[in-house]
Amino acid sequence: MTAGWVIALAAGIAVLAWIVGAPLAAARRRRALAARSLTEDERRAMQAWLPFARGLPVPLHDRLGRLTAIFIGEKEFTGCGGLTVTPEMKVAIAAQACLLVLGRNTHVYDRLRSVLVYPSQFVVPGQWHDEHGVVTEESRVLAGESWDVSRVILSWEDVDSRGAPGEAYNVVIHEFAHYLDHESGGAPWIAGTAARRRWFRLLDAELEALRARADAGARTFLDPYAAEDRGEFFAVASEAFFEEPAALAREMPALYRALADIYRLDPAAW
Ligand SMILES: [Zn+2]
Repeated sequence: MTAGWVIALAAGIAVLAWIVGAPLAAARRRRALAARSLTEDERRAMQAWLPFARGLPVPLHDRLGRLTAIFIGEKEFTGCGGLTVTPEMKVAIAAQACLLVLGRNTHVYDRLRSVLVYPSQFVVPGQWHDEHGVVTEESRVLAGESWDVSRVILSWEDVDSRGAPGEAYNVVIHEFAHYLDHESGGAPWIAGTAARRRWFRLLDAELEALRARADAGARTFLDPYAAEDRGEFFAVASEAFFEEPAALAREMPALYRALADIYRLDPAAW
């Protein structure tokens, strides 16, 4: 065997070791993070931010703690615009984000690297496409953003002013629902052509019904902002699913059932 071959072979073995070893090391790191129990302060913050967490079935409650610990350990939190991200802020964001993946367990926003937190709403310059494909160049003021699977941006003021009971406003749930939506091409965890077709059929029917009511000036159960497009509909419906589950189940039962399948959770029973 020539020296060239030996080098090529060694390089090949090294690449193979990395391909096999990297996920194993990541899994090991994750197990270690999951084993770390939340501190007393973190646990208190979780109860304060998710008051209904106390009513969760014990296995789900414990799992939420584990996922929150993984999220805090794995993701980088960056304060922007002079904000310092405190441990309590991290719990508030992580625990609410992990609520969406609580029924799935294996998924902790694996490709997400960082969460950027601004003190209040922030300005994003860019190109915006409307539903007719018209592109406008302008700056927008946003409470949250998640177009890219490696980062999510949030306004702390908006995280902090989540809706009172009966008002489904939750920017963390909204943005992380967008994350799952983008990551899956609009059908989180829905596998198979027939199931995806069924989901999009339901989504479009609910979206059309909402638009019709909003256009007629009638009361809509979901915030009329949901009528923007499929993505906003899913994000707003997810806020209602976790914040006002019983009302959503009563007002839009087919949508509630579809979301319960997607998230593998039944928050109306909590
Ligand atoms: Zn949105």
